[in-house]
Amino acid sequence: MGLESWAWCPLLTIGKFLKKYSYCYLCSNPRKDIGPMNTELLKKYLEIWGRILPRKLSQLCLSHQKEIAKNIKLARELGLLK
Ligand SMILES: [Zn+2]
Repeated sequence: MGLESWAWCPLLTIGKFLKKYSYCYLCSNPRKDIGPMNTELLKKYLEIWGRILPRKLSQLCLSHQKEIAKNIKLARELGLLK
């Protein structure tokens, strides 16, 4: 059992795989308008309990993740999302 044994943890390898082969959905679709009114898009990045998905799962880049989070909060204030 060397120090490398932790690297065989399946969760870590899946995480590495996702990071390597994932791309930001919004960067590849720049025409998608992100706004509080676009609830169809915002709902994709919510959990079943209504929380915002972490970046590991949403697979967005940092700037888009921040924009999505901002707009979800705005939509909640407007009463468009739960
Ligand atoms: Zn992006």
